[in-house]
Amino acid sequence: MSEGAAKKEEKRRKFQAIRGTRDLLPPETALWNRVEQTAHEVFGTFGFGEIRVPIFEPTELFARSIGLDTDVVSKEMYTFEDHDFGELDRLRSTITYRNPDIENPHSVSLYRDQLNDFVRAFGEGISSNQIPRTPENLRALETLQHFAGQIDSLAKDWTGGVLIAKVRFDGRVVDARENLRRIQFGDVLSLRPEATASVCRAYIEHGMQSLPQPVKLYYMGPMFRRERPQKGRYRQFYQIGAEVLGGSDAPAIDAEVIEMVMTFFDRLELHGVQLDINSIGDRNCRPKYVELLRAELLKVKDKLGADSQRRIETNPLRVLDSKLESEQGIIATLPRIADHLCEECAVHYAAVKHQLEMRGVIYRENWRLVRGLDYYMRTTFEITAQGLGSQNAVCGGGRYDGLVELLGGPPTKGIGFAIGEDRLILSLQESGKAPAQQGRDVYIAWMGERAHATAIRAAKDLRKGGFSVELPPVEQKFGKALGQADKLGAKYALILGDNEVSEGLWTLKTLADGSQAKFTEPDLLEHLRKQRALSS
Ligand code: ATP
Ligand code: MG
Repeated sequence: MSEGAAKKEEKRRKFQAIRGTRDLLPPETALWNRVEQTAHEVFGTFGFGEIRVPIFEPTELFARSIGLDTDVVSKEMYTFEDHDFGELDRLRSTITYRNPDIENPHSVSLYRDQLNDFVRAFGEGISSNQIPRTPENLRALETLQHFAGQIDSLAKDWTGGVLIAKVRFDGRVVDARENLRRIQFGDVLSLRPEATASVCRAYIEHGMQSLPQPVKLYYMGPMFRRERPQKGRYRQFYQIGAEVLGGSDAPAIDAEVIEMVMTFFDRLELHGVQLDINSIGDRNCRPKYVELLRAELLKVKDKLGADSQRRIETNPLRVLDSKLESEQGIIATLPRIADHLCEECAVHYAAVKHQLEMRGVIYRENWRLVRGLDYYMRTTFEITAQGLGSQNAVCGGGRYDGLVELLGGPPTKGIGFAIGEDRLILSLQESGKAPAQQGRDVYIAWMGERAHATAIRAAKDLRKGGFSVELPPVEQKFGKALGQADKLGAKYALILGDNEVSEGLWTLKTLADGSQAKFTEPDLLEHLRKQRALSS
């Protein structure tokens, strides 16, 4: 392709939302707003306050809390390095890919000069604290400095007949490459794949342990995971979640948190809601169970699929989560955690169930329910809803005592959940809970300069009264205006022509039946208010 053609092609390029992301449009956004408004209301009645945390955080925060062996951290995060050293970064690549040859003086001196330039700028960045003082960076600086200082004498040795100088030189180049690769010019950040880690970070950062405990927080917003997009699974998706941090780990807290989600779903009239619960033990009993599970899984390894075989090593609990038809028979025979809980966990679990019963919350016990994130312990739960196919989990949650401590805070109890808002909305739509397009209340059909001024005033008063008003920006023939009002689904057309303005009597047309009536200005507002009260 010629350069001109390429430019033309570039201009014609249509932009599209990135795979796995999507635009939410009216009228659907009205449903999103209703869902979020209901969350604010219901969570508020349970004493929760809203927290808004950043969209990105240090990668380390997620790695440490969610766990390195989870899918989320090992392959689904959007990660980038945040720094101002673009040029230095490019110089690093140049040097990394260079193959200097000690037999070629020109290639040696070019390499030496670039390495020296790099070392100087890199060293300045570190001493001015603009580049982080990580152990890797400090080691790289030292190694590269040392090598840069040696290059000339190695080259001289080589010309002087010291054959070993070539071996040394080549070794140092390989070593330099390795060190260059490990350098970090700035913080490594990730788009948040979930918000619990951030909420715990905020709890610590703002010293919330000195507030009355427990601290009850909820959030809503976008999360990012690089998964294979499909119905109910996106790369940017939305969660509504809540966390209870600090204080006790009383089973009533677990039950109340679950009761709150169920109340929320109930208020939204979500269909086919099914709550599954389980206890996955704690630091005392879970490791022993996991070992037992691993041993049993090893005995049947040949009969398992590749994913499960790998998980025997990395995360045997996750095998229980398998949906593979061929594995179901084997999984049914595996030992169950309920039979291996320690005394404390068993008592806690029994009390959670009792507390749920006291609250009239209907649940199903599911011994195979394990969560994909490492930080969960004891109570875990998942809620599914109707109309979602295989992506039918709308909420996942559980207890995570110890997470705050793991992130450097004081020993703290914690429990929370996250609702997949996209799936919640999908399910509501499938069961016909989506609101219809919101039409305008009043379309003002005006003609003439004087009428325009009156129309502007009328629009202002009607909007102040809470009516939604469409005021066309340019004059239209009445016939066209009425057609437009119809298309926008307006309830009424307010007709303002010269006659109406001079008489002080305005014509209101009810579009559903075509009836018309005349009103004075104050009467009109009164009439519309009455109609609104009647229809609501
Ligand atoms: P799944 O097993 O469906 O992948 P998960 O265990 O990864 O879910 P959590 O990390 O517990 O999910 O998140 C809680 C909820 O967030 C899920 O129940 C789901 O409703 C929603 N969710 C998770 N990942 C996505 C995604 N990629 N797109 C849409 N919703 C999602
Ligand atoms: Mg997932």
